[in-house]
Parts: sequence; C-alpha cells; structure tokens
Amino acid sequence: MGTLRDLQYALQEKIEELRQRDALIDELELELDQKDELIQKLQTELDKYRSVLRPASQQPSQSESISQEQQRTKRQAISAEPTALDIQDISHVTLPCYSKSAQSKELIKDAILENDFMKNLEMSQIQEIVDCMYPVEYTQDSYIIEEGDVGSLVYVMEALGHRPAMFPNDYDADRADKTCRAHGVPQKTHYEEGDYIVRQGASGDTFFIISKGKVNVTQDEWKGGEAELPTTLSRGDWFGEQALHGEDVRLANVIAAEDVICLVIDRDSLQQLTGSLEDVSSREYESAEMQAQFEAEAAFFASLERTDFSVHQTLGVGGFGRVELVQLKNEEGRSFAMKVLKKHHIVEMRQQEHIRSEKQIMQEAHCDFIVRLYRTFRDHKYLYMLMEACLGGELWTILRDRGSFNDSTTRFYTACVLEAFGYLHSKGVIYRDLKPENIILNQRGYAKLVDFGFAKKIGFGKKTWTFCGTPEYVAPEIILNKGHDSSADYWSLGILIYELLSGSPPFSGSDPMQTYNIILRGIDMVEFPKKITKNAGTLIKKLCRDNPSERLGNQKNEVKDIQKHKWFEGFNFEGLKKGTLTAPIVLNVTGPLDTSNFDTFPLDSEEDAPDEESGWDVDF
Ligand code: ATP
Ligand code: MG
Repeated sequence: MGTLRDLQYALQEKIEELRQRDALIDELELELDQKDELIQKLQTELDKYRSVLRPASQQPSQSESISQEQQRTKRQAISAEPTALDIQDISHVTLPCYSKSAQSKELIKDAILENDFMKNLEMSQIQEIVDCMYPVEYTQDSYIIEEGDVGSLVYVMEALGHRPAMFPNDYDADRADKTCRAHGVPQKTHYEEGDYIVRQGASGDTFFIISKGKVNVTQDEWKGGEAELPTTLSRGDWFGEQALHGEDVRLANVIAAEDVICLVIDRDSLQQLTGSLEDVSSREYESAEMQAQFEAEAAFFASLERTDFSVHQTLGVGGFGRVELVQLKNEEGRSFAMKVLKKHHIVEMRQQEHIRSEKQIMQEAHCDFIVRLYRTFRDHKYLYMLMEACLGGELWTILRDRGSFNDSTTRFYTACVLEAFGYLHSKGVIYRDLKPENIILNQRGYAKLVDFGFAKKIGFGKKTWTFCGTPEYVAPEIILNKGHDSSADYWSLGILIYELLSGSPPFSGSDPMQTYNIILRGIDMVEFPKKITKNAGTLIKKLCRDNPSERLGNQKNEVKDIQKHKWFEGFNFEGLKKGTLTAPIVLNVTGPLDTSNFDTFPLDSEEDAPDEESGWDVDF
C-alpha cells in the first residue's frame, strides 16, 4: 500500500535528517573543543606574560580585568628587587668577559638596540653587556624559562634564519646595577703608573675618587724638585675636592703609583648637589618643644597593647593587607587607622626590606602632610601599623566621583604633596609611589601622603636601582634602569597634576609594558586636553623632563622652584603650612567612627583560614 510505503519513505528521510544533524553536532563539538583548546593556550600565554609584569598575587581576576576597562580601578604598585641585593657589595665587581666572534657580538648588539628598554643605554654600557654575555645551547623542547622561576638573566636568541630576539626573564637589577654604576654621573678614567692626575698650580674643576690602585700626593718644594708628602691614597680615598668649592688652582700633585682608575666628577655636575647640601645643613629642625611632645606621645603609645583596640570597619584594602578603623576600648572619643599586613604575603612577595623601611621612614616623619605612624605591633601571622586616621577619604575616590578637578583644587593638593616631598627629600628620603590612591584627606580636607611601602632613605647625591612604582607614574630612568633619585618623585608629581586636572594620567597603555613604551616616548608626544591650562601645562612639562637633572624640583632651589612657578602664583603656601587656608573640598565627617567617605569593603574572607606560617620573625 502506498500509504505504508510513504510512511516508510518519510521515516527514512527523518532518520537521514537525524543522522545529518548528529554529524553536524559532532562537527560543532569538535570545533568547540578546538576553540576551547585555543582559549586555554592563549590564557596560558597571557598568564605567563602577566607574571613577568606583575607579581602573581597582584594579578586581577578575570572579572576585575574586564571591569578595569569599563570603569576606574585602583592601580597596583609593582616592585622588582632581589632582596639580597646590596649595592655596596657589587659596586666593585668586575664583569666577566667572554670572548666571542665578531658575528656574535654584532648579533647581541643588534638585539640590544632593538629592545625598547635597553636601546637607550650608552654605547660603552652596551659594549660591556656584549662582552659579558655567554653562549648557552638548548636542546629541542627543553625549558629556557619556566613560569614561576626567579629571573636574573637576559637572553638573546641566536637561531639560523631568525632575526635576533631578546627577552628578559625578569628585570635584572643585579646586572643592571653593575653597568649603571659604572656609567652614572662620575666618569671612569684610567691612568698608568707615573701619570700626573693632578698637577700643582694647574687650574682644574674636577673631583676624583679612587676606584682602583694607589696614588702619591706630592708638593713642589720652594727650590724646585718635589717632596713626597706622607700621603699615599688608595681605593675609596678622594682628592681635588677644593675645586668643587670654587678653588681653581691645584695645591698638590697627584701621581699614579701604579695602574689607577678614578671616578671623576666636575664642578658643574655637582653644583646643584652641593647647593642642596648647604641648604639642608642650614635648615631648622624640630624645636625642643615639639621633640618633647613627640616623646610623650611615643611613651603613651608604647604603654598600649594591640588588644587595647577594637576594630570598627575597613577603610581600605591594598596590595599587602587591609587598613581598619580602630578605637581604644577605654577611650572612645578617638579613632586610629590600623594597617594589618600578612607576614606570609610579605615574604611571598619578597617585600621584607620595603616593609622595614616603610615603618622606619613613617615613624620618623613628623610632617603635617604625611600620615603619622604612632607605633607597630606584631604577632605570628600579622604586622600592624597604628596610624592617625584620616577620615576625609582617598583623593582617588573623590577624583573618581567628580571626574576631574579645577585648577585651584588641583593646586591645593599639589601644594600639600610638595610640602611632603620637600620634607622627605630634605631627609634624603624618596617616596616613589605617588598616585591619588595614596593621598588621603583629613576632616579639614588637607591632603596627606600615606603608604610608604616603596619609600627609601638613599641620602644625598646617591641613586637607587629598584624597579618600583605604579606603571602610569614611573619615571623613564626607572624603566631604563639607569638609577633614580628624588627627581623621580618630581616626574610623578607632573603625572599627578595632569591626572587631577584631566581625570586620567598622560601615559597609559592596556598593560604595564605598553605603558612603559608610551612613557619612553616622552611628554612632548602627549596631547594635552583643554582642561589643562597653559600654565599648568608648562609646569607639567618642566616636571616631566626625560632628563632627571633638568626637572624642576631637582635644581639648586629644590621645591622652591616649583612653588615659584607661574601656575602657583598667588597661592598661599604660608597659610597651607600653618593650616589657616581653607581646603577646596571639605567632606562631612560627623565623628571619629564616621567612615562614610570611604568605599565599603567586604569582610576579610581569609581571616579564618588556616595559619600560613611565614617563618619570618621581624623586629617590628
Ligand atoms: P598598596 O597596594 O597601594 O601598596 P597598601 O597595602 O600598601 O596598598 P595603603 O595604601 O597604605 O596599603 O592603604 C590602603 C588604603 O587604606 C589607602 O589607599 C587608604 O584608602 C586607606 N588608608 C590607609 N591608611 C589610612 C589612614 N591612616 N587613614 C585612613 N585611611 C587609610
Ligand atoms: Mg596604597
């Protein structure tokens, strides 16, 4: 019967259709698997890339990185420094030299010149790197760099048919220190036995430090001939310092007694430095009355236990822990901010040295524009820092809510930071992590610097080589590992003014590496929005000079040069210092426990987690 046949036919058709669908599903499933595999691969690549750029625990989660693109998120600071690094130890190390063919030398040099972070080194530095590189062969499928390795090497790839590629497995501060130290401000000069380094009676404007060998110091006798002074100088000794104070005529001969290497520096290069040193020595220090007050305060806090405080609410969460608003149980009219740091985390991120320095610098800082640290506590799991509480909130939050600030509001906050910088730099301390996230307001609306995690006492006329800061705010010399000093803070001040006035920093890329590349292009490549007035623009450009010694603030008159800039004309610095000036934004603070000016933070989910013993016992 036709009907049955029809039905059979229809059934066949349906079966065929189903088979085809199954085949399609199989095909799509296969495609999906392949795509999953690709995503997985890309994710791994991305993670590897991130781990080179940021410490693992500071990586944002996937959802965070998506929201980062859509809304303003707080920026994490980055640091890279081998904890065991002691510049003193390595300053006299001679780099090993490995002989290699002219072709290999050329290959390495080309690779360096193609690398954004090394191409700006001096030719002599590049030569030194070329000399000390050595060949290593890898067999197929062997690991050259493994994720999670502590990196200390830079590789140049030599493979037939490929252009040389260069990749660091981390910033090698150790190696860079050696090369940078040799080519900083002082120039290395070599002398042979018998060479007159300085001749009596001749004019000269240079100062010498012996880095290798011995010299004899002699003085010409009245009747001609030379009489040897009892002095022989050797490594670490110096001579010619009179020339730096304006004395042009050399008073003695200095003759190389053997092969000698001297670090030589001229008067002009040192003039700004000596100017600032003189200023420092004449500066007034804290009065006896204030000293007594600080001592009494220290005695009061020394008598307290950590358990004397009760936690009220979280004020902020940073890279290394959280900051809680706390109160003395028996004195409820007063509140404090307690920064709680996980020891385990500090050790994991190798930040022990930074934390010690944070405590010391903050505890010694007595400046109205720096948050006071009264005392510290510790237990087996945490370190605690008891600070004054600033309840006006973070400048970052206010900037986020308002978008940008006008000229006079920005001027006020910049002036507060300048007061803090002037104070710190006069003590030989550099701050290194300026950003709106680290500026908080007290209830009168005055701004104070907080978070001294990267601050360092470097002294005067000295540099440091740690790679640290927040990507958008780091100065080019930090990126290029040339060694940096307080002038890096003035660079970041320029970035801050730009960000406060416009709402976003001038140099910003999709990832830190891209940001560094944009920074290296320089401030002249940045288009300034109309919101930034002409005077503000010129000040920003004077602060963000590529050459640190040309930056305003880093000259003989230090911060005064910035305060005298046209943009600050008419600003009442005296009123600011005395606290009589009215702040541009005064947020409502109803009492010592009012945290309404801070964002809300969820409870610490790790609080009840099993103890992670760091094994690190610190005198804190
Ligand atoms: P980062 O990741 O920036 O290194 P951190 O862990 O070092 O952060 P801080 O920056 O010191 O922590 O503090 C985190 C946040 O806590 C600050 O941005 C601020 O909002 C808040 N905070 C810190 N100290 C105080 C204080 N004394 N008074 C009020 N709020 C504070
Ligand atoms: Mg911070």
